[in-house]
Amino acid sequence: MDPINRLAALFAEFPGIGGRQSKRFVFHLIKRDKAYINELVKLIQSLQSSVFECTRCHRYFMKKYPDAPEECFICIDTSRDHHTLMVVEKDSDLEAVERSGTYKGLYFVLGGTLTILEKDPSRKLRFNALLDLVSQEKDTIEEVIIACAVTPESEHTSEYVESMLLPLIHETNTKITHLGRGLSTGTELEYSDADTLRYALEGRK
Ligand SMILES: [Zn+2]
Repeated sequence: MDPINRLAALFAEFPGIGGRQSKRFVFHLIKRDKAYINELVKLIQSLQSSVFECTRCHRYFMKKYPDAPEECFICIDTSRDHHTLMVVEKDSDLEAVERSGTYKGLYFVLGGTLTILEKDPSRKLRFNALLDLVSQEKDTIEEVIIACAVTPESEHTSEYVESMLLPLIHETNTKITHLGRGLSTGTELEYSDADTLRYALEGRK
């Protein structure tokens, strides 16, 4: 395969990118100058060596120095509320909530959503890591906020998370809440503005 089609095929593997868009990316790159291409190549190459997955919340983060802790700066921040855990689908959702400045608890990133017909859901996403975290910290965690989008797959995921957590917190005072109304149907968390996220958070139940 020639470089144009090969590169287009790689871009087509990106989330939400179709064949036509991937070709547009390639032609965009052909027109750009060397400095731009060099920076792009360098950044892509450095991603895997400088970005780590937090061992607690599983978000991706940059270590400030090589021997920095394996947990990200949100998880080790003692000024945050360690009694509240928000479960989000993906890193970009976490970033949207952080940008809104309305939440001071901790997070857990599931890593995606379940498809409705998933045959073996317990093996998908990071469900086992979430179960481990909640069972280890069930005396500390007072509230688990399930912050999934309002789409059929996200709602399915949210119900599944709740059904898995319920037996764990059965004899504790931990409660499970969901983001309230205000997130309109079909809206992804990552595209919600700060006010919408604040209302959804305040209206959780
Ligand atoms: Zn973390």
